[in-house]
Amino acid sequence: MKVILLGPPGAGKGTIAKALTEYDGSVQISTGDILRAAIAAGTELGKQAEAAMKAGNLVTDDLIMGIMEERLREDDCQQGYLLDGFPRTIPQAEALRTLLSRLGESLDAVLELDIPRDVIIDRLTTRRTCTNCGEIYNIKYKRPKVDGICDVCGGTEIVQRDDETEEAIENRLEVYNEQTAPLVDFYRDEGLLVSVPTSEREPVMQALLARIGG
Ligand code: AMP
Repeated sequence: MKVILLGPPGAGKGTIAKALTEYDGSVQISTGDILRAAIAAGTELGKQAEAAMKAGNLVTDDLIMGIMEERLREDDCQQGYLLDGFPRTIPQAEALRTLLSRLGESLDAVLELDIPRDVIIDRLTTRRTCTNCGEIYNIKYKRPKVDGICDVCGGTEIVQRDDETEEAIENRLEVYNEQTAPLVDFYRDEGLLVSVPTSEREPVMQALLARIGG
C-alpha cells in the first residue's frame, strides 16, 4: 500500500506505520528518523537540519524533497510505503504529487489521526527513545522490561528527545496547526482522506483497510 500518515506529533503515526508494515511488507519512511540518523552520524544533511529540529521547527522543503526523491526510488519501495511525517507543508505535498506522477505511482490513501491536544502533550512529555535503535518507550505507559535497558537492542541510553521538552512540543503543535493541518483539506479535495479520531491500532487499521480494500 502507498499511504501517508498525517497527524500532529504524538498522534501515533509511527506506531500505526509499524503495525501496517507487518500487514503487507510496505516500508515505513519517517523523515524525522532519517534526519535524526543524519544528525547522529554528523553528516552534512544532519548539520543543516539540527538547529531547526532542536527548536521544533520544520527543516526546509528543499532539504526534505532531496531526501524523498532519493528514498522513493529505492528498491524496497516497490512493495509500498507508509510515509510517516511527510509531507508536512503544502509545497511538499505538491512536490510529492509531481514526483509520484514522474515515477508513475499514486497514493492509496491519506490517513489522518485526529487526537486531542491534552493527550498529545501528556504522551510526548513522558515519551523516551532508545538512542541506539529508536524504540519508543513511555515512563507512564510503556516502560522497558528492565529499567534503563532497551527491550529490543539492549541499549542503555533511553532518553527524552531534545524536541520533546514542553517548550519544543508547544512549538511543534503550533507549527503543525499552521503548516501541516492545511494538508487535511488538500487531501480531502483529492478524495484520499481517511480520518480516524483515535490512535488505537485496531480501529485505525480497519478504517484504512476498508478504504483501500485490504
Ligand atoms: P518527527 O519525528 O516526524 O516528529 O520529526 C521531527 C522533526 O524533524 C520535526 O519537528 C522537523 O524539525 C523535522 N522534520 C521531519 N519531517 C519533516 C518534514 N517532512 N518537513 C520538515 N521538517 C521535518
